[in-house]
Amino acid sequence: MTELSFRLKDLENKDKHIDCVLAADMISDALSDLDADVDHSSLHLTAELSKHNVTVLCNGTLTGKLSVPCQRCLGPARVDVDQRIHTVFVPPSSSLSSSDGEDSGQEQDDDVDDVDYAHHDGETIDLLPIVREYIILAVPITVYCNEDCRGLCPLCGADRNQGDCSCQPVGKLSPLSALRDVKL
Ligand SMILES: [Zn+2]
Ligand SMILES: [Zn+2]
Repeated sequence: MTELSFRLKDLENKDKHIDCVLAADMISDALSDLDADVDHSSLHLTAELSKHNVTVLCNGTLTGKLSVPCQRCLGPARVDVDQRIHTVFVPPSSSLSSSDGEDSGQEQDDDVDDVDYAHHDGETIDLLPIVREYIILAVPITVYCNEDCRGLCPLCGADRNQGDCSCQPVGKLSPLSALRDVKL
């Protein structure tokens, strides 16, 4: 049992309201490939679990901010998170109708506002795997500290946001540019 797992029988007669700040190690675990700065990241989960016969509906939001390295300059880049969570937990014997396999679930989630499906084990609901997936989905493919980030100089590695280095720009000296100079 983790802090994000709940017994089905506790949902029998009343909905469960979840309101918690996610543990830092959960964020660092989900984003281990991204080198996230967990000290400057925080995520807040609010959700409502309601049981309907054998299925449990989880409706909620994951909000907060993440700090990951800028892809151009490697400085801190902030990602604002506002993910809607809408997952239906079905019994272990049911097929997951939203996808043809659990492994492909991540691609399927690109359809915003679609319902996701997951399994409960008949006794407990574990939100950890889905919350983990939503954390990963919250980070866009391209993350920059600033849209105008100038990145690092490919020659000397200097952060060009801090000022120009003395390297010559590359790729401008082509035969065509010489021709253009002649015409002028
Ligand atoms: Zn940057
Ligand atoms: Zn340089």
